[in-house]
Amino acid sequence: MKPETIAIHAGNHVDASSKAVIQPIVLSTTFERAEDGTFPGGHIYSRASNPNRELLENVIAKLEGGADAAAFSSGNAAGMSVFQSLAPGTHIIAPDDMYHGLRNQLKILFAGILKFDFIDVNDIDTVNRHLMPGTGLIWLETPSNPLLKVTDIKKIVALAHKHSIKVAVDNTFATPICQLPISLGADLVMHSSTKYFGGHSDLMGGVLVTAQKDDWWQKIRDVQVYGGAIPSPMDCYMLVRSIKTLPYRVQGHVHNAQLLAEYLEKHPKIEQVMYPGLPSHPQYQIAKEQMLGFGGMISFTVKGGEAEARRVINGLKLFTRATSLGGVESLIEHRATVEGPDTKTPFNLLRVSVGLEHIDDLIEDLEVALG
Ligand SMILES: *Cc1c(COP(=O)(O)O)cnc(C)c1O
Repeated sequence: MKPETIAIHAGNHVDASSKAVIQPIVLSTTFERAEDGTFPGGHIYSRASNPNRELLENVIAKLEGGADAAAFSSGNAAGMSVFQSLAPGTHIIAPDDMYHGLRNQLKILFAGILKFDFIDVNDIDTVNRHLMPGTGLIWLETPSNPLLKVTDIKKIVALAHKHSIKVAVDNTFATPICQLPISLGADLVMHSSTKYFGGHSDLMGGVLVTAQKDDWWQKIRDVQVYGGAIPSPMDCYMLVRSIKTLPYRVQGHVHNAQLLAEYLEKHPKIEQVMYPGLPSHPQYQIAKEQMLGFGGMISFTVKGGEAEARRVINGLKLFTRATSLGGVESLIEHRATVEGPDTKTPFNLLRVSVGLEHIDDLIEDLEVALG
């Protein structure tokens, strides 16, 4: 089945008892046993499993082409479950341009427990040089945040699997509508479902999808159930509801982002536009080969430094000054400020989450602000 169909049907079923077409939200924390002690409804206790979470995990696993999925209370909780599933002392290779919240998680929470190197994963020699006997995981994020770098997933998988190293991909920016890492050989996919899956900037969630139900996946399930960073039934329901429109929303985001990137690239006040759908993007060829769409995120640098970047951002009316992404409304942020003092992000860089407003209105707003 195609994604549009999966998105609508794989997270939904007609309720067996009430015949409701849309599944009810099951708030109960506990489920009745039969006289023989079994659980005929398939659930025992909502930290372990819940009907709404089960449907959410099912639709996301199918969209990503995975064997199973596990939902969490945030993207960072999903990422943390991966790191917690590794044996102490495991060495991780991660990108130098990595979502700062997860980079800080490794640096602050896993210092002394895991070993990690943040390197340029687009240079295969650099990756090769950093491999060591204890390397257990290569973490990728493509397109990356905030520089929109694109990593050749197949190439990294080929190297990693030769050394029995697992590959996990943060697919938040791309969504399964634009990129299917498991089809490119990745072992695990991670999402912040706070972003495009939720799509309306009103809930937090995270998800992991596995290529195989192996021992590693069982360990991750154990972290989910015993660690307990699970999403509420209400949030699972909201996500299933939003995912039904994910394929069409993403098509709209991609359409608008491409046109906005092309507009910005021609503007005399813009220094550089970072968008995988532009032929000027350094990894345009790789993006064309491995992506089904180029996503809805753009970063650009403004001529005249930080002051000029701030003037532009403050002159916009339709783009809200806020972090995060993937909602129907356009957001813009001065990324270096969000990332804090150790950021390597240029101070004249602005990151845009291109929304679903009409592209003419978005361009007109930018035209005025750029002046
Ligand atoms: C937001 C984000 C995360 C973290 O997700 P939360 O839901 O905020 O915990 C991880 N990776 C990327 C690429 C993100 O954009």
